[in-house]
Amino acid sequence: ESGKQNMSLIVVGHVDAGKSTLMGRLLYDIGELSEKEKTANERGSKRVGKSSFAFAWGLDALGDERDRGVTIDIATTHFSTPHRNITLLDAPGHRDFIPAMISGAAQADVALLVVDGSPGEFEAGFERGGQTREHAWLVRSLGVKEIVVGVNKMDLVDWSQDRYDEIVDSLKPFLVSAGFTASKTVFLPLAAMEGTNVLVNEDPLLKAWYDGPTLIDILDKAEVPTRPYESPLRIPVSNVFKGQTAIASGVAVSGRLCSGVVQVGDRLRAIPGDEVGSVRTIEVDDESAPYATAGQNVTLYLAGIDPIHLAIGTVLCPPSQPVSLVSKFTAQILVFDLQSPIISGTPVELFHHSVNLPATISKLISISEKGQVTRKNPRVLQKGTTATVELTFRPTGGSSKVPTLALETAAENKEMGRVLIRRGGETIAAGVVMEILA
Ligand code: GDP
Repeated sequence: ESGKQNMSLIVVGHVDAGKSTLMGRLLYDIGELSEKEKTANERGSKRVGKSSFAFAWGLDALGDERDRGVTIDIATTHFSTPHRNITLLDAPGHRDFIPAMISGAAQADVALLVVDGSPGEFEAGFERGGQTREHAWLVRSLGVKEIVVGVNKMDLVDWSQDRYDEIVDSLKPFLVSAGFTASKTVFLPLAAMEGTNVLVNEDPLLKAWYDGPTLIDILDKAEVPTRPYESPLRIPVSNVFKGQTAIASGVAVSGRLCSGVVQVGDRLRAIPGDEVGSVRTIEVDDESAPYATAGQNVTLYLAGIDPIHLAIGTVLCPPSQPVSLVSKFTAQILVFDLQSPIISGTPVELFHHSVNLPATISKLISISEKGQVTRKNPRVLQKGTTATVELTFRPTGGSSKVPTLALETAAENKEMGRVLIRRGGETIAAGVVMEILA
């Protein structure tokens, strides 16, 4: 097991593309879902009249999701392939859930974009209003370099190669324009429902023209980025709870190591604040571990710290190398599709890992093209521009206190220096932190 590389996978795509079905099928075929669970799920599924969700249910951790028939939160699941231990971050396809996806995508190494290949459906998901573009853009902006595109529901088009080619031909140039390298953009035809090309391809209609890898083959060989083990430890907390598992109990936090290494016994400081706790137990993939390294998702049981000092967004660091709290910084941003242009003074919501804070785009510093500054002090930023801006956190709720956030420059720490900017429920830009000003 120890020879396997750890990899986080996020599944994105337009609602109803078949993400949950595909992941359910994959886990089931790999054997993570027992025959017994499958029967139980099928029974429950018929009750709400959505028997096709039977597979999807393997992922749904929360009871009320079953009644709504949608996956509403990032559920994490683990599975293994011959060369990879994969943490699955399941992102929902609904517009409102993009913030949840942001915190999930911030942790992903590889994205699986699922598109519906059936007539008219691919197009509906790809045009404005559809989520295919926005999700692809988001995952790339959040640093995901590898994207696998599953053209799903190919059974509905009788495994037409022409249809498949048509979809690849329109998606590929878009993904390249969104910043993916053509060689790191892999496509495959599949049918999640019947399980064709998930683990095996035994369909004569598909075999007639496709002898490429199945989904599992692709995931097993996906390139995992090199990890910043040497940098100081940073764990942005995504969940705090009173843990009680077979392994340990007490105050627990979960999150992903952006950088560094953590060992049982280590003392960690929770920022903001100056409280220090020590690591009693480390859980990785639901098993106890003596240490964890950059890129891994962990649950830590802490001793000597009151949970009052821990919250979603807290960053755990070595006491001697704390992360700084920032109220003003410059960022290089890529502007997405916009309803109205960005001007100086535009109020926004700034997203960083699992937290978001109100901020103001306080200054438009410059616009650049292909790495060269082409204009200084622009008056507006339009869609598609790359710009350097100044961002300042904004006091809210009648308080005059400027909020702060644990941030670093992207040069210092890539994952700690990446932000997303939203306005009125829409993601308008993604960026990297260039300089800390205050
Ligand atoms: P999600 O919103 O992307 O998670 O989509 P779901 O997994 O909930 O699937 C949406 C619908 O598409 C469900 O009714 C599925 O049964 C159906 N579906 C998913 N995969 C396939 C497939 O390969 N073929 C066919 N015919 N239907 C599928």
